[in-house]
Amino acid sequence: MAEERRRKMIGLQPEGEIDWSEYKGIMVVVEQRAGQAKPVSWQLLGEAKRLAQKLDAPLMALVMGEGVRDIADEAIGYGADIVYLSDAPELRDYRTRPYSRVCLKVIRTYKPEIVLMGATYTGRDLAGAIATHLPTGLTADSTQLDVDDERLLLASRPAFSEKMLATILCKQFKPQMATVRAGVFQALPFDSARAGEVVEVSEDMREGDIVTKVLEFIQDTNRVNLEDAQVIVAGGRGVGGPDGFKLLEELARTLGGTVAASRAATDLGWMDHAYQVGQTGTTVRPKLYFAIGISGAVQHVVGMQNSDYIIAVNKDANAPIFQIANYGIVGDLFEVVPLLTRAFQERLTPVVTR
Ligand SMILES: Cc1cc2nc3c(=O)[nH]c(=O)nc-3n(C[C@H](O)[C@H](O)[C@H](O)COP(=O)(O)OP(=O)(O)OC[C@H]3O[C@@H](n4cnc5c(N)ncnc54)[C@H](O)[C@@H]3O)c2cc1C
Repeated sequence: MAEERRRKMIGLQPEGEIDWSEYKGIMVVVEQRAGQAKPVSWQLLGEAKRLAQKLDAPLMALVMGEGVRDIADEAIGYGADIVYLSDAPELRDYRTRPYSRVCLKVIRTYKPEIVLMGATYTGRDLAGAIATHLPTGLTADSTQLDVDDERLLLASRPAFSEKMLATILCKQFKPQMATVRAGVFQALPFDSARAGEVVEVSEDMREGDIVTKVLEFIQDTNRVNLEDAQVIVAGGRGVGGPDGFKLLEELARTLGGTVAASRAATDLGWMDHAYQVGQTGTTVRPKLYFAIGISGAVQHVVGMQNSDYIIAVNKDANAPIFQIANYGIVGDLFEVVPLLTRAFQERLTPVVTR
């Protein structure tokens, strides 16, 4: 009896044979903090819609939190057909145990054949906990998704020090699970008129049964958040050193953006690795990306090519970065960047008349 209760508490899979053919559809677990959904969740819905159409299957979303009904409606606007909503005080802050309990219940009840989450700190933790309990396979940190004729998820991710792309399949269990890097896929345009169904899900949870408590949430103001940045000013080897990055910081500050770097610049110690964009860094999808003194090597380009607008500054007119740039400026960055900063300052700062 005690063992049975323990199994239930930690959400262990019941014993016995399972009929996988009942599993249908794709479910995206929406990540939110303080009532704000993470952009990666909408990006995932965009890609999952394509896969769901290929499979001729419904697209589901799972929203968990406290006071998050609006996010469920938002998920419909971003492409979900059905949203499972678990709204409870125990889900106010992310904690592995209560979140995984709800996920396990929803997955076992509604049986999606594929479950996707963002490869964020939370997504990695939650996906690992769920996959272990179901049990099923999990491909972490995917950068490409597809499905084959046998409805198998083809989740591809960089492997072997990012030198190869490995496609990983889960043939034996359902659901097939993957976490996916932010910025890789594009969200569908938000459609407030889209219709969908919101199904409320409740799970019998008592605060006393949950072994962790969130005492306080302290925002790390030093943490670099390139994934969600709308404007990125990235510098490469051409910037010449840490002092050169100060010019880029001023441009970024003027535009309310964030500074980033190529691997050459991080390897040289001019910027911390956390600022690196590219195959072995962060994949970004800002509205505006400045590539300054960056040649445009393929390993850099894969991490920023989905930016809405790319502006390149390089003194070499043949630099490959110009092939993907929307606007290119051939010139010395030490002359061009201060001019750009001043021009933006003049246009963006309100004119004060005396
Ligand atoms: C497995 C693997 C993974 C990798 N992962 C990444 C990754 O995640 N991200 C990444 O960025 N790279 C990555 N790389 C490295 C990548 O191949 C390139 O070496 C790197 O991106 C080059 O950085 P860069 O463009 O800053 O430097 P460079 O290629 O040296 O280019 C510097 C550019 O600056 C220009 N320049 C110089 N002076 C000026 C000036 N005064 N004004 C204007 N322009 C100037 C030059 O014309 C040149 O185009 C990876 C490589 C491998 C093998």
